[in-house]
Amino acid sequence: MALLYRLSFSSSSSPLSSACNSIKQFNPISPKSFICSLHFNDTSSSSSSSSPFTEKHSFERYQRDQWVYSSLQHNRPEPTSPSVSLDADSTRRNDIALQLPELKKLLQVLREKREEDRVGAEKCGPGNVYLVGTGPGDPDLLTLKAMKVIQKADLLLYDRLVSNDVLDLVAPNARLLYVGKTAGYHSRTQEEIHELLLSFAEVGATVVRLKGGDPLVFGRGGEEMDFLQQKGIQVKVIPGITAASGIAAELGIPLTHRGVANSVRFLTGHSRKGGTDPLFVAENAADPDSTLVVYMGLSTLPSLALKLMHHGLPPHTPAAAIERGTTPQQRIVFSELKDLADKIGVEELVSPTLIIIGKVVSLSPFWPISSKEATCLAEAK
Ligand code: SAH
Repeated sequence: MALLYRLSFSSSSSPLSSACNSIKQFNPISPKSFICSLHFNDTSSSSSSSSPFTEKHSFERYQRDQWVYSSLQHNRPEPTSPSVSLDADSTRRNDIALQLPELKKLLQVLREKREEDRVGAEKCGPGNVYLVGTGPGDPDLLTLKAMKVIQKADLLLYDRLVSNDVLDLVAPNARLLYVGKTAGYHSRTQEEIHELLLSFAEVGATVVRLKGGDPLVFGRGGEEMDFLQQKGIQVKVIPGITAASGIAAELGIPLTHRGVANSVRFLTGHSRKGGTDPLFVAENAADPDSTLVVYMGLSTLPSLALKLMHHGLPPHTPAAAIERGTTPQQRIVFSELKDLADKIGVEELVSPTLIIIGKVVSLSPFWPISSKEATCLAEAK
């Protein structure tokens, strides 16, 4: 009963801001700006115009999660057209309500399977939950350990930043469930995700929580681990290649480099209290001998850049913004720090975009700006 109760998530969660459902079309690449698209491993079937990641109401998402709507063959939700304006909260509630019967059914099946398996044996403990990092998008960046776990899972909960190419590797009989969040639209609350993980682990299932990049780098993996461990569920973490490492490698940027950058710092562009000023850290982050990597930093970059310069980072510091890094749709804007926000605006980069700031950026073989600074750096190589 408790499990069923858990699965009838209350819909009284925090109010959501209205969803922005439009899918941006990219402008053609302007030859004048320092924007380029590099991806060496173009074996994907994704077309260059479609997103490599899960769009919350995309056809692919509903197809992939079809099992969870199967008791409602006539009433299955249609992917919404980008032009349709939705009330985000009611869409979310409807979607979760539609999913409940099949989730409960799956719980029951797994519980019965567990009972059969343990006839005559000792009482089994709960199942395992694996927090698995899937890297920034390129499926070849998955670890072998992640692959093995993905293939033995009963249920996989996935985020928006787990790429479609990675999801294509999941075994056909595994159950996939989208629990992604995007700014301004939370399909499931963090608490609901915790409860889902717990409910399935308690019936002995092998539950895999897939997260883009590394689960413990801005992935809220620590919160999920903490919650489950307090409930007596064993959690195993399988690291993933974080966006900073995957993207720096793709661009040939050494995040540290002797004589150029002696440290690297990962920042979030989000503010501590969810406001527009992220930048309580900017003062001590303005170190010319360090590399800064900013996650979730698109909307707050203008104020971050100003603050960093105000606190002493030279305006001509090399920088790059990389959208959808390591996927066939990757786009890159190279610029000096002072112009970066404007150039990102002109190119209309969208999330996910990673920002790298520091002298090491000009060590990239793709850095297009020749400057005194770059010459000095080349000598330091
Ligand atoms: N756990 C993830 C980070 C999640 S926070 C990791 O370790 O990489 C989400 C942010 O990560 C995005 O807003 C973006 O800044 C960055 N990011 C993740 N994947 C990315 C990608 N493929 N391209 C560009 N940025 C990415």
